[in-house]
Amino acid sequence: MTTTISNIHLSEQDFEAWEQGRLSDAQMEAFLTHTANCPHCGDAWFAYMSRHAEALPEPPAYLAQEITERVHQPDVVIAQKARTTSKKVQLLLYSLKVGVALAASIYMLFAMDPQMFELMANFTILK
Ligand SMILES: [Zn+2]
Repeated sequence: MTTTISNIHLSEQDFEAWEQGRLSDAQMEAFLTHTANCPHCGDAWFAYMSRHAEALPEPPAYLAQEITERVHQPDVVIAQKARTTSKKVQLLLYSLKVGVALAASIYMLFAMDPQMFELMANFTILK
């Protein structure tokens, strides 16, 4: 690595070093940490990869077919359904909580002694 990553942005040389696998473990960690936290270098890295797209390994042709088949297998479908269902249950529970809180507020408002209500109103005005 030609530069101290923590202080300044990554350079083309840094991206080349990454591409050619010349980074040590510590440098790789610093590189990834910086690109993850610095939008400027994240964009620059993406732009670098876009320019060097031919250098990136092509995904095998059978991969799309394999992924499509895997997605339709029962265990994946069940897992997906369970996630969707649990989100619906979460929404229902949230709605119930809001509903109960609203009902309690309305009940308290009506259950409140009118004199107490007047007292509170006057107290607020006097303040
Ligand atoms: Zn940066």
